[in-house]
Amino acid sequence: MAKETHEFQAETKQLLDLMIHSIYTNHEIFLRELISNASDAIDKAHFESLTDRSLLEGDEDFQIFLTPDAEQHMLTIADNGIGMNREELIENIGTIAKSGTKAFLEQLKKAKEENKDLTDKEMIGQFGVGFYSAFMVADHVTIVTRKAGEKQAWKWESAADGSYTIEECELDKRGTAITLHLKKEFCGKEAEQDFTDNYELERLVKKYSDYVRYPIKMDFTFEETPKDKDGKEIEGADKIKKVETRTLNSMQPLWTKNKSDIKKEEYNEFFKHQFYEWEDPMEVFHTKAEGTVEYTALLAIPAHAPFNLYQTDYEPGLQLYSRHVFIMDKCKDLLPDYLRFMKGLVDSPDLSLNISRELLQQSRELKAIGRALEKNILKTLARKLKNDREWYEKFWNEYGKSLKIGIYNSIYSGSDTVDKLKDLILFMSSKDGKLVTLKEYVDRMPESQKKIYYATAKDKETIEQLPQMETLRDKGIEVLYLLDPVDEFAIETIHQYEEKPFHSISRGDLGLDDAESQEVKKETEEIQKDNSDLMKDIKAALGDKVEDVKVSARLKSSAVCLVADEAGPSLAMEQAFSQMKN
Ligand code: ADP
Ligand code: MG
Repeated sequence: MAKETHEFQAETKQLLDLMIHSIYTNHEIFLRELISNASDAIDKAHFESLTDRSLLEGDEDFQIFLTPDAEQHMLTIADNGIGMNREELIENIGTIAKSGTKAFLEQLKKAKEENKDLTDKEMIGQFGVGFYSAFMVADHVTIVTRKAGEKQAWKWESAADGSYTIEECELDKRGTAITLHLKKEFCGKEAEQDFTDNYELERLVKKYSDYVRYPIKMDFTFEETPKDKDGKEIEGADKIKKVETRTLNSMQPLWTKNKSDIKKEEYNEFFKHQFYEWEDPMEVFHTKAEGTVEYTALLAIPAHAPFNLYQTDYEPGLQLYSRHVFIMDKCKDLLPDYLRFMKGLVDSPDLSLNISRELLQQSRELKAIGRALEKNILKTLARKLKNDREWYEKFWNEYGKSLKIGIYNSIYSGSDTVDKLKDLILFMSSKDGKLVTLKEYVDRMPESQKKIYYATAKDKETIEQLPQMETLRDKGIEVLYLLDPVDEFAIETIHQYEEKPFHSISRGDLGLDDAESQEVKKETEEIQKDNSDLMKDIKAALGDKVEDVKVSARLKSSAVCLVADEAGPSLAMEQAFSQMKN
């Protein structure tokens, strides 16, 4: 059959145009895309061979081979996968049928209409556009391919000028070889990035495709001085060339191994290596699910919270993989923000490589995975709190603030976060100066006590010197110490625990309902009445500085104390608000 020329479909042309004009800023991902295609093709060959062994023609050594050619400015990515026949070349390469690519084009169109910058990294960076990404770095692409089980091989060629050619050719084995004729920006020492450089290619494979199941190989050439029989280099001898074929990827991702085969040290090493941690993680979660959504997750709570965990420059999120191919580094849409300290990755065949960040956010699969992970983490935390208090308090000291902020933020998100977290939070308590849960506090309250009392200050000592503390201490009433401004916001959001409202000891009446208190209350009211002129005079003298002046029964050895209005914000909250304004 003679060489035939085909026009690209209109949408393909549009996409190619965008590739050529490099709207995409992250050029290097072309290699990830082509390797992932090669890996998919090998998967198919492997699968088909299960029912028809002859298809492999004796070549069962599945592999992907990279051949850079610096002199010719070329890079070839070859696989012994399923290959393509003529119809498949036209069908798969010449047209855009994939939803991911279509969505990409739609996003681009929208961006154009809204006059958005097309080079915006956020928008473009996360799209995988498959085979066409080759045209970001190459101005001419050749595919030579032979389908497993068929005799005829085909050569496809395009210079991305609106058309491509197909012709018959010879190939002695099944599979596909894609040769990129690299643009001059992408080869040579002077280049912005050199895709003919062995070490650069090795780095990219490690970065994006380390866990591809098949070996990705490349030849490294070295020059060596010949050695004599004692192993000493022979001076003045001509150097000899030595070629060494190396496998660039480690292939088996730790998370795909059986849990029972993985040692604790392996998990620890993996986390330190993968997430640049210095210490072993506090806890590792390794889960596999095979329900409606299939995924494997490997998560960890790092030993220490990063210093900027609560600052805007901290980027939370988990790594995403699809069939062990890396998709995204910091996917924020899996876990709720209060788990922002979690590190780890999720690998799911149900997530597509060719998907935009926006579409991913809406993905049903992603949401289902996120919910399951959240549930699992919360369950583990609850179990630890129950069985390993020491561990939990260590965890709390590192990450407790994150959970408290989560509770407070639920007033905006309107979620059920309060219910999820209220039994996981701890407060310092006046009882033995230890951390307590709300449940522990309520369970040991005397029957006459109707409220959960708390005090706010920046340290324990300040609270212990509050005049109000004396009364409560004498009555044996436990007080929670809220030492972080966020504590009170969290408490205000929880509102009440087991129908017991929270009550700040520096706010209005303490509301102690026991007999003694009733008596004192009556007495106090009488004193207030008898001294109303005095109170008025004090109020006049203090003017706007106070709202009101009252006789109090809660003082023991102090003469006066400042209290907050019943309805208004507490003193500590007022202080926190004024700090936020600054
Ligand atoms: P996707 O991989 O998402 O399907 P691509 O644009 O990356 O999209 O590839 C388009 C199609 O071209 C693939 O679905 C596959 O059918 C075919 N293809 C690409 N590369 C190869 C290859 N190395 N071997 C066999 N088929 C391939
Ligand atoms: Mg692909």
